[in-house]
Amino acid sequence: MRSRLLLISIFLLAMGATFLFRKPHSSETGGVWSITDHLYKLECLTDSLNLILADTIDVRTACVEPGGTLGALLYSTGIEGNRYLSCCDIFIDSLGWTSVHLGDTLEALYERDVLAEVRARPRNGRGYYCIEFEGTAEPVDWYWVPEEQYRRLRAVTLVVNSSVWESIANGAVPEDLTPSGQIVTRRDSVRQVAYIKGFENELANRLFIYDIDFYYDVQPGDSVWVLLEENRYPGSSETTFRRIIAAKYDFALGGMTEAIPFFHQPDSLAPDGSAIILDHYHRDGASLRTMFLKMPVPFGRVSSPYSDSRMHPVLGYTRAHRGIDYAAPMGTEIYVVGDGVITVRAFTGGYGNMVRVRHANGYETGYGHMNGYAAHQEIGSYVRQGDVIGYVGSTGLSTGPHVHFEMKKNGSYVNPASEILPPANPLLANDLDYFMLQLPVLESTWSLMAGMDIPVSPPQSTDPNDTSTE
Ligand SMILES: [Zn+2]
Repeated sequence: MRSRLLLISIFLLAMGATFLFRKPHSSETGGVWSITDHLYKLECLTDSLNLILADTIDVRTACVEPGGTLGALLYSTGIEGNRYLSCCDIFIDSLGWTSVHLGDTLEALYERDVLAEVRARPRNGRGYYCIEFEGTAEPVDWYWVPEEQYRRLRAVTLVVNSSVWESIANGAVPEDLTPSGQIVTRRDSVRQVAYIKGFENELANRLFIYDIDFYYDVQPGDSVWVLLEENRYPGSSETTFRRIIAAKYDFALGGMTEAIPFFHQPDSLAPDGSAIILDHYHRDGASLRTMFLKMPVPFGRVSSPYSDSRMHPVLGYTRAHRGIDYAAPMGTEIYVVGDGVITVRAFTGGYGNMVRVRHANGYETGYGHMNGYAAHQEIGSYVRQGDVIGYVGSTGLSTGPHVHFEMKKNGSYVNPASEILPPANPLLANDLDYFMLQLPVLESTWSLMAGMDIPVSPPQSTDPNDTSTE
């Protein structure tokens, strides 16, 4: 506990110093609605914040010595077994790091003793090779990181007048999104749309999907405060959206819905039982999520419900349909409805290209007729609720583009629509204590960053939209 408090103190000092040495950066945009608060650029803080939240991050470093090999480097940072083999393959075959030289270094980042990332820095290179594990046995991604890339935290407050998309477009897109600071070329437009889409998706389709109906609950005059994280590429003067760290949606009609961050390990679903993930909670530690999304496609239309017997449209005879078909345009993203591990990812006859995922509590879901699979996933990959696992298609026995969605509990088919879907796990015991301890610290930190008192919901919410206690 003492070390945590120490960390927090160090972080606050760093915060204060950064705050003093940086000028606020205000941004005014015209139009029907405007930014209400300054945008502050706060580079260098992400790592510090993550350090507090993730509790322990351990970096093991090794340097190539005379006669040293890649294998020796990996071993000396604790990388063994399958991870060792994957790292060798990726460094040599995929990333083209074919020979190590004296002075090259390797860093292995562990979060709570789970390998999260491996970074290799060639002594003369201007950047590093990165292999991401995110706690899983198999790498999830790998790439070259130019030296100057870094992550940036920003706090923004948006006033909603019509749509969330518009609010983001007018109030959250950073001025340094593009090299010219303006949207001039087609590439600029693509960057802008990608930024807004990423932001909106995270806010509306992920964080607040259960708490706020963005078609009916949103009123002019609502405001939303967001602490977000961006990737910054000064070399190409580019900024991309990464994720939302915290958000508070303040309803004009009263009430507030909050998403408070907590970094933790999920239950024993990942192949090796752990991963560090960012999850969001209400103030009381209740999860913002339920265990399963309502459906695996956005705006899906039920084209064939679950039934014990029906006339099969292709086979022409009566056969039970133990799943729900959602019609959606070819290529629509298919989301995994809950956290889990991919167990099947193959062409399976009638259901065409199919992905199956094993979840907690004896649940399993399947998604059929896919046109294609998401990149960087395979059998054994850990996927999080809302991750894209494939794209709508019409493979197998199918009359048109749709996703066949099925759910099993303890090996037997259940109707996903009538199954009582359990809420995702709330924070418990030590995690809850720590969450409660860090909440006021985080909020005062955010206030400092934003140069204002950030909104805090009253202890007893009277908002009818607030379902946090259910
Ligand atoms: Zn079906």
